[in-house]
Amino acid sequence: MDITKLLNKESFSKEEIIRLLQVIGKEKVLLFQKSAEVKQKYIGNKVWFRGLIEFSNICGKDCLYCGIRKGNKNLTRYNLSDDEILAAAKFAFDNNYGSIALQSGEIESPAFTKRVIKLLNNIKELSDGKLGITLSVGEQKPEVYKKWFDAGAHRYLLRVESTNEELYRKIHPNDKKHDFQRRLDCLKSLQDIGYQTGTGVMIGLPFQTLDDLAGDLLFMQKFDIDMCGMGPYIEHADTPLITYSDKLLPLNGRFDLTLKMIAILRIMMKDINIVAATALQAIDPIGREKAVKIGANILMPNITPGKYRDSYKLYDNKPCTDDSAEDCQSCLEARVSLADAEVIYGEWGDSKHYERRRGTMAQRHKGLFCTPKKLD
Ligand code: SAM
Repeated sequence: MDITKLLNKESFSKEEIIRLLQVIGKEKVLLFQKSAEVKQKYIGNKVWFRGLIEFSNICGKDCLYCGIRKGNKNLTRYNLSDDEILAAAKFAFDNNYGSIALQSGEIESPAFTKRVIKLLNNIKELSDGKLGITLSVGEQKPEVYKKWFDAGAHRYLLRVESTNEELYRKIHPNDKKHDFQRRLDCLKSLQDIGYQTGTGVMIGLPFQTLDDLAGDLLFMQKFDIDMCGMGPYIEHADTPLITYSDKLLPLNGRFDLTLKMIAILRIMMKDINIVAATALQAIDPIGREKAVKIGANILMPNITPGKYRDSYKLYDNKPCTDDSAEDCQSCLEARVSLADAEVIYGEWGDSKHYERRRGTMAQRHKGLFCTPKKLD
């Protein structure tokens, strides 16, 4: 099919998405032009910050791709004190970031649940309720998600990693702790509780096909996600998946595919929030800006205290591990203007898709719901 006709379609079939993932040259330019236009129309040329606090690399899981997996012994484990986390949140608030994201390895325990509740309460208190909070601390019981939602977290990012169960099993140990169905159930309970729910996948994994990636995008659309954080898979020398390095696309191929995934998703889901993932910058110094140009609208400046950053290495060559929070901010601001976009300070930057589906967060907390509106 002619590319212009295809790009103007209301929805895509799997075959059409695969066709779009393969575009090169002029057709690729047209794809990126279309996704940039959609972003401009439905989101504007805007970017919102989530100050990222990677508060602990202690993890109970053993995902075969991840540098902070439990089995990696070549890593100093750390756990920020509550005071350090609150100081980072205060930095975000004082610098007028609308939101923060709290991320860590995966721990399921009553003590962890309680700690997160206390942190949420304290962060709300120090910012007079003004800082928006995204959580990304993995799979938990529905009642735990609910407690955190009630304590003020309103967005949750849980990447599904791959929606092809067979591939999911290849990149995770085959045991109860790494169960594909539980991942899906967790996403469902997050959505049911009322979180702005985000998911995403790694792109360029060993064994992954274009068919898988097209399936991932269709899953996101069907699940009706509010946010997406997806990025290239990058090897880590101390992980089991390193054995398959010879089966991978070159890094620039994974980068290219990630930009296409973002562009196609923007066209498919016009008003969701899409993160320009840090892993893009590990491949191309202006990788995140390229993502902002063609569809992403969220950046996550790292505000974790510098001395810990080296120990949150999910993959090799993770960028900015020796910067300070101030460095990250000024660098990102300059970068965003490179992409002809503008950082919006002092706003939560909630997913417009969520608001259209369910009303604003403030309405939800008051028990008011709106009727889903159709997009123009
Ligand atoms: N424990 C939480 C969870 O699983 O959602 C949050 C932390 S986890 C380290 C955050 C994300 O890092 C994962 O969802 C995964 O997609 C990404 N990640 C881990 N290893 C990676 C790698 N080698 N390359 C690219 N991304 C990776």
